[in-house]
Amino acid sequence: MSTRLVIDHRKGGAALRHPEKAHRPDNPIARKPDWIRVKAPNHPVYHETRALMREQKLVTVCEEAACPNIGECWSQRHATMMIMGEICTRACAFCNVTTGMPNPLDDGEPERVGEAVAKLGLRHVVITSVDRDDLPDGGAAHFARVIRAVRAASSSTTIEILTPDFLRKPASLEVVVAARPDVFNHNLETVPRLYTTIRPGARYYQSLRLLDDVKRHDPSIFTKSGLMVGLGEDRPEILQVMDDLRVADVDFITLGQYLQPTVKHAPVRDFVTPDAFADYAAMARAKGFLQVSASPLTRSSYHADSDFAELRAAREAKLAAVRSGAESV
Ligand code: SF4
Repeated sequence: MSTRLVIDHRKGGAALRHPEKAHRPDNPIARKPDWIRVKAPNHPVYHETRALMREQKLVTVCEEAACPNIGECWSQRHATMMIMGEICTRACAFCNVTTGMPNPLDDGEPERVGEAVAKLGLRHVVITSVDRDDLPDGGAAHFARVIRAVRAASSSTTIEILTPDFLRKPASLEVVVAARPDVFNHNLETVPRLYTTIRPGARYYQSLRLLDDVKRHDPSIFTKSGLMVGLGEDRPEILQVMDDLRVADVDFITLGQYLQPTVKHAPVRDFVTPDAFADYAAMARAKGFLQVSASPLTRSSYHADSDFAELRAAREAKLAAVRSGAESV
């Protein structure tokens, strides 16, 4: 285990990244199976992407969450920006983002995100954030400003947002939806039985309702949600979550292997095999999701640009089929 992930050296000090987890017993980190192998981050474009993030003073979830795909994604200029700071007000048992009291919002951030998207030349961008339970609107207005700034700086880029749950923040969702992102993603993360231990600050049905409400407010926006597996859930529970997401009319599901960031985080209960992921993918398609991504290294934003193109094509094909069916009636 690397102390780099437990102690935050970025501001010249040695603050604990997860003070609320400091007194928990250590969970030894299991050795990864052979099927989980990632590329080392040494491509020249990786370094260019990194330099641009620093130049624009932007935070990325790729770095903060210690994502295993960073070598691959950044060598293609695919960085997922994390807005509203690098400190989260929640303390989920799976997440490596620093917890604590965040700093005030940065008014210049929306324009800097827009500039970065334009400089990277992105067809599709994913923007996420920390939870900001300290703000009256949970950061909804800031999300909307970022969406508008990206549109202004790079009008052809499609925009995917991955938001918090806006728990107890009435009317926040409407503010974000009114800015019309192309994809609205909110991750359920795990099955309802594990919420109290894995995602204690969240409520399963609130997260489901959020996704349902996005579609009710604007059916043209694609909705997307993801789960980590390997946290102790079982197959029937995953299939039930898929059903719940389809009832909420969610278009796109992602499933990936949970990897334990430090000894203070929830342990990996099992490494799900590639065959089991293929089974989940087949089940999800059978249940009617327009797009499915399920593999050990799948993350919400992994291959998001090519997946978005397929998602859009799948909806067009479905609408064409409905139209031709209607015409033949
Ligand atoms: S999968 Fe997402 S979070 Fe991970 S490196 Fe790629 S873009 Fe960043």
